[in-house]
Amino acid sequence: MKQSLAFILFLTCYSTAQEPAKPQLDRDAFTFTKYDLQVQVAPARQSLAVRGRVVLRNDSEKSQSIVALQVSSSLTWASVRRGDAPLAIETTKVESDIDHAGAVNEAMVALPEPVAPGGTIELGVAYSGTIAFNSSRLEALDTPRDVARRSDWDRIAPEFTAVRGVGYVAWYPVSLAPVKLGDGNRMFAELGVWRARHAESVFHAEFDKPEGKVLLTNGQRREDGDKVVCDFARLGLEAPLFVIADLAALENLNGRIWYLPGGQEMAKEYAAVLSKWQPSFTTAPLQKADFVQLPEGWANYESGPMMLAPLRKAPEPEIAQGMVHTLTHASVASRRPWIYEGLAHFAQSRAIEGQLGREAALRFLAQRTPALALAESTGAGQDLIKATDEVFYRTKAMFVWWMLRDMLGGATLEKALAKYRADLDKEPSYVQRLLESESGKGLEQFFDEWVYRDRGLPDFKVEAVFPRQNLRGGYLVSVTVENQGAAGAEAPVVIKTKVSDVTARVFVPAKDKATTRIEVPLYPVSVTVNDGSVPETDTTDNDFTVPPPK
Ligand SMILES: [Zn+2]
Repeated sequence: MKQSLAFILFLTCYSTAQEPAKPQLDRDAFTFTKYDLQVQVAPARQSLAVRGRVVLRNDSEKSQSIVALQVSSSLTWASVRRGDAPLAIETTKVESDIDHAGAVNEAMVALPEPVAPGGTIELGVAYSGTIAFNSSRLEALDTPRDVARRSDWDRIAPEFTAVRGVGYVAWYPVSLAPVKLGDGNRMFAELGVWRARHAESVFHAEFDKPEGKVLLTNGQRREDGDKVVCDFARLGLEAPLFVIADLAALENLNGRIWYLPGGQEMAKEYAAVLSKWQPSFTTAPLQKADFVQLPEGWANYESGPMMLAPLRKAPEPEIAQGMVHTLTHASVASRRPWIYEGLAHFAQSRAIEGQLGREAALRFLAQRTPALALAESTGAGQDLIKATDEVFYRTKAMFVWWMLRDMLGGATLEKALAKYRADLDKEPSYVQRLLESESGKGLEQFFDEWVYRDRGLPDFKVEAVFPRQNLRGGYLVSVTVENQGAAGAEAPVVIKTKVSDVTARVFVPAKDKATTRIEVPLYPVSVTVNDGSVPETDTTDNDFTVPPPK
């Protein structure tokens, strides 16, 4: 689009003013507090047309005179309005991998008057274009073609339409500093911060009801005449997505299996597994989970209580393990990522434990420890309560729940979580109090070192072992464990003898030592601290071989 006269005048006016106050674009200044969009999708033409309103709040320290509105580079800006008045916009294609095309069309909007810090402005927006399959951002990174095609599957197409939100397709206006996928973890970090900033935002969209097809979204949806009305409530966790396809559903109390033509037999197997699920954290799911069949070869994608994946033949326990994560989201509607995602991953590890035993669950945890230990050791640690990086709000949170379960007992934890109410969770300490009142145990220190603050991970070492024969012919073994890390934790201590293992638990404060005494029937062979249930930076000094008796 050509620069409009008003825009040029606007810029000139500022640049010639006596104070050198040229308006500067700060893409992070505004938070989109409200979206209200009318969306027309035409699968046959692969096209999308959107008009509606967005409300922006200036969360920066300075007054702002320019707003940047970005949509996918395959979409074209028609207008940006204030009330009925069109505003001057200048559109530029900006390279950014927040969109599958590797670029966004950015409308720079000259505001009629500056928006003060804390102030809001409502803008009318209209844009349209096509959203075709595009894996160029991944192929630019030399990702093998088939992997790129599996991952970046978003498209509007006659046979199957599926479009995910920012991070995949900017089908609604956003404003983010340009980021490239190849730039380490930066894009995911920026998207994490963006989501956290928009956790309280409201997103309402009305789609034209597609003829002869089903339109699904990951928000609350209802049909109203010829519209499908959707409200997306958790922008902090889930980017709004929509699917339009020839889908039919098998439904039961826990959820729905949406399947494509020819997928009915497989869907029946999935539905049978789904119907057996018993929620452990609540008495009943808050909402039904949606499992949506993707075309074969497309990569799985989870978005809260919606899971998109090809339906594959698999043994029942495997199907169940995959479902537990999504079903947990449908049962606990927390807006806090460490609770919402942490519990879902924890539930998966519990399901594995239930099916295959604790050892298998610990192996599942162990696969995730190195990434967390690396993130903590590089000084990129985030306080769990406000973490925006997945390695914390998913992986570390999963461990925190696992440790709480080991400390309080499974039944107590489940009873406490059944009382969890997202609408009452207003203070960071809400969950701590809930768990304390159910268990009668003080958890202040644990939450302080693991949830409210990032203290890194513990680093245990078995410092000394003293076996002493007791009067009954067995041994009382005194074990001293040192924790060189800055986070305290309760860890299992396992004493091996020639016939059996005996396990006890010991709490070792940060930068301190603790001693526990354990009775075993025979002279001990070795002592190990931490079976992998506590994430740790260095596990090479966790074993201690007991010298033979003198
Ligand atoms: Zn999840």
